[in-house]
Amino acid sequence: MNEIDKIRIGFALALLASLFALQPIIEQSTIAYLLFGVKLTLKHLYICFSILLGFSVYFYSISLINDSTFFRFSKKVGNLTYSFALIVLPIYIGLYLISIITRLLLKLFQNPLVGNILKYVLAGILGMLISYMYRFLYINFSKKDKSEKINQLIRQEETSIERAKILISKRYYDIAIVEVWKTIESAIQTMLFEIGYNKDIKNTIDLINIAKEKKLIAQNTLKPLDELRKLRNQSIHKNIEITSQQAKDAIELAERMIYRLSQRVNACYYCNRTFARADLEHDDITGAYVCKSCAQENPDWQEELMAMGMDP
Ligand SMILES: [Zn+2]
Repeated sequence: MNEIDKIRIGFALALLASLFALQPIIEQSTIAYLLFGVKLTLKHLYICFSILLGFSVYFYSISLINDSTFFRFSKKVGNLTYSFALIVLPIYIGLYLISIITRLLLKLFQNPLVGNILKYVLAGILGMLISYMYRFLYINFSKKDKSEKINQLIRQEETSIERAKILISKRYYDIAIVEVWKTIESAIQTMLFEIGYNKDIKNTIDLINIAKEKKLIAQNTLKPLDELRKLRNQSIHKNIEITSQQAKDAIELAERMIYRLSQRVNACYYCNRTFARADLEHDDITGAYVCKSCAQENPDWQEELMAMGMDP
């Protein structure tokens, strides 16, 4: 569970708790308005808000069990219900405003047809606003999740490499190799995550194959990487002796790979999403990277960027 998940669940629970405190007031409240012939009471708002918050806590809790596809999906449902819960109150207020405006306009025009048309127009505008608000919240939630996950992987990467160096200085070469391998795995996972790959990865071989397929690992790194993987397995399962040189070489390989991996992704100039460099189009003059779909949408992107005076 990352920090943001903890904060989110904490807030959802705090909101639910405050709702319980408000229950006696809601029970006695007579606040209500009519819209499309339906009476909307404060109790409706209360029930909707509580159910959505309850669902979000439930789905977040399920997502804590594991990090596989199903549980990640559960977290997405948690995000969906939580963002929907947050906009229930603005929806209720918006609908109230619509009911007031239509009532006023009905009085003004004295024509039920005009009133009905306006009612639907206003409801349409409100619907659009809700969908924008909802998308804004949901997209921001997902963005925050992504950056938190990347930070977590980078922290893991840094801790492992530091630990490996300390272990080498204390001559624990076999454990150092295991730590170096963890660093490499975290670095590859970070890059896969950056380019939007979030399917389940079964094991180390699977991880390396996907990275190869996504062109994240340079051809000349494949062999030393495979040797290091075998060495790490041997040190764990066969208890073989690791030399100081082998451990130092492993650190060097890890550092080289981390550097290369960090050089292999870039953000698209138009949509700002991150891609492997192999999947981006590059303009040598402006130095800009553009993803394939943005390049298709803007066939004259190179001229456009030149005209905008982008620095090379
Ligand atoms: Zn793009």
